[in-house]
Order: sequence, then structure tokens, then C-alpha cells
Amino acid sequence: MDRLWAPWRIEYIKQPKSDKCILCEIPRQSRENDRKNLLLYRGEKAFIILNRYPYNNGHLMIAPYRHVPSVINLTDDEAIEIHKLLKLSIKILDKTMKPEGYNIGANIGKAAGAGIDMHYHLHIVPRWVGDTNYMPVLSDTKIIVEYLQQTYDNLKKALKEII
Ligand SMILES: [Zn+2]
Repeated sequence: MDRLWAPWRIEYIKQPKSDKCILCEIPRQSRENDRKNLLLYRGEKAFIILNRYPYNNGHLMIAPYRHVPSVINLTDDEAIEIHKLLKLSIKILDKTMKPEGYNIGANIGKAAGAGIDMHYHLHIVPRWVGDTNYMPVLSDTKIIVEYLQQTYDNLKKALKEII
């Protein structure tokens, strides 16, 4: 994953660290904000959200609603639903973006590089051959936001066709 050059992530690094957990905060907001917040799908115990500071186009995250730090804290129901949402995520990404591969994983704990280290989440990063040079053209933050909304709309459409 770290071979991808993602210069816009500097905006994320530069942001003042908030005490609020965004993975708790966003699902608590009204559904009307889902598009703005890039919340793609609300499951029963877990949800899918686009990463606002993506390593690649279509970078998704799946998290439980509960604020728990590690996979070992998940109930069986949560663990099962997260994997169901993983299947769903790959289906909609395949359908809309046709990636040639995926990086899927979790960073557990600060030492492992977790940005949000107290709320477990799974990353799904679509990959294409040669994509290490794919995104740098989009280094302007405003363009990134528009691009993310477009990706969100495409994935939402695919979701509606599948569910
Ligand atoms: Zn949380």
C-alpha cells in the first residue's frame, strides 16, 4: 500500500487531531448527510464509507458502529457482517471500476500505522497495474472532493442495482 504516492493525504496529516471519533460520529448523523460524509451503506451492525483521504480511487473502509479497537473485540455477528460488506464492496467496485487487484487489511494500533487507532476498520484499496502513477494528477484538494463525490455516486448506483 505504501508504494502508492498520495500527495493529497498531506491535508489529512495537517489536520488538527480531534478527540471525536469520525467512525462513531458520521453514522450518528442524519442520512441526509450520507453523501456529504461519503457514507455509502448502512448495515445492521456495520457500515461502508469512502476514505476521504484515499490511497487510490475507490478506497473504501468498513467499520462496526461500536467503538472497539481490534478485530478480537467484534461480536460474531459484527465479524460476519463486516465480511458480508467486504463481499458487497468488492462486487460494487468490480462493477464500477474494474480493478485488477485489491489490498484488503486493517492497521491495528498506532505502531501499525492506524490513523483512527481506537475504532476497528477494514481498508479496501482497489489496485490497477501501474497505478502507482495513477492519482498524482489529482493533487488539488477541491478536485479530490468532486472526484470522491463522483465515485460515491457511481458506487451508490451499483449498490442499488445489486441489493
Ligand atoms: Zn469510534
